Amino acid sequence: MVDFEQEYNKIVDKNSNKNPEELLDFIFQLHGDKVELASSFGAEDVVIIHMIQNLGLSIPIFTIDTGRLNQETYNLIDEIRNKYNIKIEILFPNNVDVETMVQEKGMNLFYKSVENRQLCCNVRKVIPLEKKLSNLDAWITGLRKNQNENRSNFKKIEIDIRKKTILKYNPLIDWSFEQVFDYIKKNNVPYNKLHDLNYPSIGCAPCTRGIKTGESPRAGRWWWENESNTECGLHSKD
Ligand code: SF4
Repeated sequence: MVDFEQEYNKIVDKNSNKNPEELLDFIFQLHGDKVELASSFGAEDVVIIHMIQNLGLSIPIFTIDTGRLNQETYNLIDEIRNKYNIKIEILFPNNVDVETMVQEKGMNLFYKSVENRQLCCNVRKVIPLEKKLSNLDAWITGLRKNQNENRSNFKKIEIDIRKKTILKYNPLIDWSFEQVFDYIKKNNVPYNKLHDLNYPSIGCAPCTRGIKTGESPRAGRWWWENESNTECGLHSKD
């Protein structure tokens, strides 16, 4: 563990000031086929996908189909696949876990309690992600600091919170939403059409809505809960 932390500190020292493209290039050189991009096909993710293709890096992309995504997200997955002529690995939750959960607690269990919502996120998202990460040395995400308060402390290069011996890279961590969309427009990158309906953050259909002017970017996620509940467990231990 000490060695891993020392190695991590060296990587941070040498690479924290790199721009996203430079960092992606470094990540691929260091990790080769043991690093992948986790994409939920939000605006940040399509920017990173475009950068990876532009740089000619063979970094695989995976996404988790929770079974409850918006049609717009499925449309975008196919659009990206066709535009860049790439494979996208689609991970699914364990069908027995989903069947047991909905039979015991109902199809819309997440509205009934925080515990039910966390259970659903765990079954549909976190368990498939953890299974995937168990075969990797590192993963890449589209997280940004100003997506919500909880993310303001996230770093460009982190040790993964659950698997303490793999790295997590967030190349756009310091970007604003405006920078992300400028990049999308300038580079003609396909994006999720829900963003045009004022969805800054896109997740599962029953748990995501557009926001009103002045609301926090994460106000459209699990809006029926306490407003501090803005994470599903993929990027936090709560
Ligand atoms: S976001 Fe909603 S539907 Fe999706 S996994 Fe979490 S609770 Fe379930």
